Amino acid sequence: MALSRVVGRLLGVRPRVVDPGGGGADRVPHPVRAVVVGGGIAGMSAAVVLAERGVDVTVLEAAPTLGGRLAAWPESLADGVQQVEHGFHAFFRQYYNWRAILRRIDPDLGFLRPVPGYPVLSARWPAEEFGDLPAAPPLNLLTLLLRSPSLRLRDLRGMDRDAALPLLSYDPVRTYAALDDTTADDLLDSLRLPDRARAMLFEVFSHSFFNHEAEMSAAEMVAQFHFYLLGNGEGLAFDAPDEDHGTAIWGPLARHVERHGGRVTTGATATALHRRDDGWRVRTADGGEHDARHVVLALDPPALAALVGASPDLAEHAPRLAARMPEFGRPGPPYAVARYWFDGDVRPDRAVFSGVSRQPTLDSVTLYHRLEREPRRWAERAGGSVIELHAYACEPGVSAAELAERMRAELATLWPESAALTVRELRARVAAQAPAFTPGSHAWRPGVPTDADGLWLAGDGIATDFPSALMERAAATGIIAANHVLRTCGGAAEPVRSIRPRGLLARRR
Ligand SMILES: Cc1cc2nc3c(=O)[nH]c(=O)nc-3n(C[C@H](O)[C@H](O)[C@H](O)COP(=O)(O)OP(=O)(O)OC[C@H]3O[C@@H](n4cnc5c(N)ncnc54)[C@H](O)[C@@H]3O)c2cc1C
Repeated sequence: MALSRVVGRLLGVRPRVVDPGGGGADRVPHPVRAVVVGGGIAGMSAAVVLAERGVDVTVLEAAPTLGGRLAAWPESLADGVQQVEHGFHAFFRQYYNWRAILRRIDPDLGFLRPVPGYPVLSARWPAEEFGDLPAAPPLNLLTLLLRSPSLRLRDLRGMDRDAALPLLSYDPVRTYAALDDTTADDLLDSLRLPDRARAMLFEVFSHSFFNHEAEMSAAEMVAQFHFYLLGNGEGLAFDAPDEDHGTAIWGPLARHVERHGGRVTTGATATALHRRDDGWRVRTADGGEHDARHVVLALDPPALAALVGASPDLAEHAPRLAARMPEFGRPGPPYAVARYWFDGDVRPDRAVFSGVSRQPTLDSVTLYHRLEREPRRWAERAGGSVIELHAYACEPGVSAAELAERMRAELATLWPESAALTVRELRARVAAQAPAFTPGSHAWRPGVPTDADGLWLAGDGIATDFPSALMERAAATGIIAANHVLRTCGGAAEPVRSIRPRGLLARRR
């Protein structure tokens, strides 16, 4: 084991069991019905666990394909059909719960391949590499501080070290009490960092959570630093599927649920939820009615707020949930994804995935033709490249085509050779579905249980009482929702794991 991991382990940096699971039968002793609304990571994670325990589970997914923000679908190009994703995703190694779900379809996770390197690019400063840091804290942080040209010793002396302490002392109660009303921007200001360190080490990171620093809670930023850098032994390196997400993940996961007796229905939009004596009725846009004792709402924030708003019974039976929806349903800023098929390639030494700092729109670049099989084959055939550009928090009211053009122009300032490439195809989207982590939002963020019997929530905007984010939070809340259902009906719960729950310098409570 690498030295950093040994040191980290000695300091308690290791996976923790939040819920040991068990406590019931392998299969529920009596028939139980559940409906899961939403077939993204959260909904499908819940469905996997419920189906395995013999719960009669139906997933209702509005879109024609499963996966939500991780979905893939076929797109017709001039020279054939290709699977296109909602966007490149980094599967970090401390995603213990999401990986446990994925092990159902591939026990060795062989479809996930390490993505080499993790540079952050800037037009103003040389690129900075994060992918080769030691895996575990504190050696990863010390190495970063010693080696980063963005932060010299004299800068460290100029920093406000008291202001920096919260970054190292994440605590699930104290951090929110102290910092949830402050913005991430204000916290970064208080550190008195040199501009370069702020841009290269911090801003690029907070953008990855689909929120602007000026509108994001400082406590959430500290929590994410802890989750990704300072609280896990796996490091900042990550993996990605070598095939499109539909082929690698959603087809196999749906078959897994179906093999265990569950049903997965796409093109089924839930329009309202009604209370019944023995549970719930979910109505769908095609006139369908689905009755169940338990319902898991695994929707993105705007969709959850819309469904709750369209269900008058919830105002009566889940008044707390209904009252939180106006704020919860307001998503973070729009994000944009543009996938370009070009007639030539960028330099061979460009990284498969790069973060980008301080461009007005562009936040990341992915070389899909060096990542997934189908784009690789297309690029070999056509002598071209498949490059995806992301903006994680962009200006509202701008069209997808305009954002794609802006990102391409910004890429040319970072990688001049890309300016000479001719566009063969472009698929561009803009959407606003990511949860907002605004200052003060911790107090009203809903958790998995609601105030209505048999109604549970899951998704990446739902609170967990251990560190988690993005895909991992979606999977973890899905499993927790399934566990609540199982515990009410005598089924064995699924284990839930977390990284080290508190920062290395957090005081004992
Ligand atoms: C461009 C991009 C890049 C990302 N990169 C990363 C990354 O690198 N690493 C990472 O960890 N995370 C990343 N994420 C975040 C990640 O995709 C999400 O955290 C995760 O997919 C959320 O899953 P979910 O199940 O909570 O929600 P969703 O995926 O939004 O699922 C909700 C589902 O509900 C369905 N639905 C909505 N309304 C209804 C209705 N009325 N009836 C039935 N179904 C309905 C939707 O169609 C959707 O399928 C990225 C996201 C984007 C957009």
